[in-house]
Amino acid sequence: MTQPAPITGQTETSLTQFLAAHGLPAFRAKQILDWIWDKRVESFERMTNLPATLKNLLGANFSWPAMETVQIQGKPGKTRKFLSRLDDGQCVESVIIPAATGGDGGQSERLTLCVSSQVGCAFGCKFCASGLLGFSRNLNAGEIVGQILAAERITRERIDNLVFMGMGEPLANFDNLVTALDIITAPWGLNIGGRHITVSTSGYAPNIVRLASYPRQIRLAISLHGATDDVRNQIMPVNKKWPLRELVPALAAWASARKQMITMEYILIQGVNDSLEAAGHLASLAQRLNAKVNLIPYNTVEGLDWQRPPLSHCERFRDRLKQAGIPVTLRYEKGHDIDAACGQLRLKKLKEDGQDILV
Ligand code: SF4
Repeated sequence: MTQPAPITGQTETSLTQFLAAHGLPAFRAKQILDWIWDKRVESFERMTNLPATLKNLLGANFSWPAMETVQIQGKPGKTRKFLSRLDDGQCVESVIIPAATGGDGGQSERLTLCVSSQVGCAFGCKFCASGLLGFSRNLNAGEIVGQILAAERITRERIDNLVFMGMGEPLANFDNLVTALDIITAPWGLNIGGRHITVSTSGYAPNIVRLASYPRQIRLAISLHGATDDVRNQIMPVNKKWPLRELVPALAAWASARKQMITMEYILIQGVNDSLEAAGHLASLAQRLNAKVNLIPYNTVEGLDWQRPPLSHCERFRDRLKQAGIPVTLRYEKGHDIDAACGQLRLKKLKEDGQDILV
């Protein structure tokens, strides 16, 4: 028997098609979406302007994703990380980042949510807690947007900025990502402007090119972490599949198709990618692609040996980029004390639950 599809993962088009297949008029789709996204009900029973036959039909074909919040780390007003349990018992984590006070942090003035796109990750970046756990499965669109609903239940505020930088490689879950983006940006959905949504990839070159034709003005960040194949090969296995000679043209295609600046995320790891020579390579690449750079000193992950460089070292690296005229921020991670690197909370929970994690 096929599982009912999550109702929160439906678009106006998919619902209209479903209704048409059952001989029902399109205006019912608008009513259903209004109950879900405007009135925020969480049962078909509460959709009081629908006939009972339609409520039964919806109940037989669609589900409400559980997304039960099982753990919250951090305090209100600060960066908070939470874990949601999915219908199959797996957990995903998301991070609420409060509006920033400005400064060198490069943070948004909006309430930001960092969302996950997969349970675990197959990409195996050597510095990442999610990579340690391996890959379980893709999140469906309802589970991706469900993280936003969960965050709004926790904060009692509207999330108005999104970054796809949690667990998983979003571009490896392309179709669900695009459906979720349709729901997130739609006026009948969460109605978050594309300019306030950043999709971050570790370097899935062919899908960067595919996403470049997505019609909304979303932004792209590349988790670069190394500006030469030598460094990227050392810490990011994705680079063996799509080395810089393939990644850079894909990024250039994005920048020219969308007339938009790309952001390069660069985690500074002591002795790996934090030399002044590495800063020079990064400056050249950023210049070539007209990109801005976010520098993030590494958050230590239990079980991994990588270290955060001293602050003076990070500042020297930043200044080298500044001298080359690159727009750059050095982000003193707000979440350093709450396991802000992606996957760390889930890793802890699995350990608490007695699962063996091979490190
Ligand atoms: S950094 Fe991102 S792409 Fe790399 S292993 Fe972690 S979650 Fe996956």
